[in-house]
Amino acid sequence: MNEAITSPSSSPLPSTPANRHELALNQSQSFNLSEIIFKVYNQAVCHSFDALEHIVVCIGFYAILCLIVYILIFRKWATLWNRNATNVRFPNTCKRVLFITAHPDDESMFFGPTIVSLTKRPDCHVYILCLSNGNHGKLGHQRQRELWDACKILQIPAENITLVNATLLPDDPTVTWKPQIIAKQILKQVHSLDIDTIITFDRDGVSHHANHCAIFYSSISIYVANLLHEGCRLFTLDSVNVCRKYSFLFDLLLSMTLSNTWCIVGLTDFCRIQKAMRAHHSQMVWFRRLYIIFSRYMIINTLREIQLSDAELEMQIDSLQKSN
Ligand SMILES: [Zn+2]
Repeated sequence: MNEAITSPSSSPLPSTPANRHELALNQSQSFNLSEIIFKVYNQAVCHSFDALEHIVVCIGFYAILCLIVYILIFRKWATLWNRNATNVRFPNTCKRVLFITAHPDDESMFFGPTIVSLTKRPDCHVYILCLSNGNHGKLGHQRQRELWDACKILQIPAENITLVNATLLPDDPTVTWKPQIIAKQILKQVHSLDIDTIITFDRDGVSHHANHCAIFYSSISIYVANLLHEGCRLFTLDSVNVCRKYSFLFDLLLSMTLSNTWCIVGLTDFCRIQKAMRAHHSQMVWFRRLYIIFSRYMIINTLREIQLSDAELEMQIDSLQKSN
């Protein structure tokens, strides 16, 4: 007698009450699992939206607070448009101030609020030492004219501007500017103009441009070597991260909290600094047009006075980085 041989797995379960119960149990377990996954997914989405909502509310609250503080430091909204509206926390004893920049346009792009604030002081003389003529795109002559035009808008007298055109200091981020060459130019200006305050870039040079950073290291080296006048002070412009850099006046609270030396300008001066930057026609590519709208350097500058111990530490860090 032939019997059909079938594998146990392929044979359908006999429809007994016990098997029916097992099948129902399996179906119920798989349903529960998918339900749990769905619930977890839903909760994750809900929590993400909640977190996002909280972040948006916090940012909105912070932005409104910045706006209120900005209006309050100028006392009222109408004052913001006043030509003399500035909020400055910078020593009154600084009377002959030298800004050291690397390229024509640095003065407007980065130092505008400090320059505008100090030129308003009747007993303060502002000088510019620009260490290259910005000849990177073979536009040296044009950029030279643009520097004078921009400084006129910033109310710096033409005779207070010095532009260095030296082959050893080219406008080129790939060329290392020798500290001795920079130091020679700085010392020449400091001593001939009887400068009591130097303002320049910090270690990161705002944009990490090698020429900006080179000025900082050269400045601190002459400071440490005690080659400046007795009492000559050195200030550097704070570099901030990219979020703060493009947060316009909404960097106000952080700036005022983290620094104790600052220059904040009103809206009229903000427009004037933008105009000075626009005088650098050759540099007004699309991203710089965005920069002059959103950059906090158009409305806020925070500075740090360099002490001898800071300068020595910076030089040690620099020599360690070079040796590694
Ligand atoms: Zn520059």
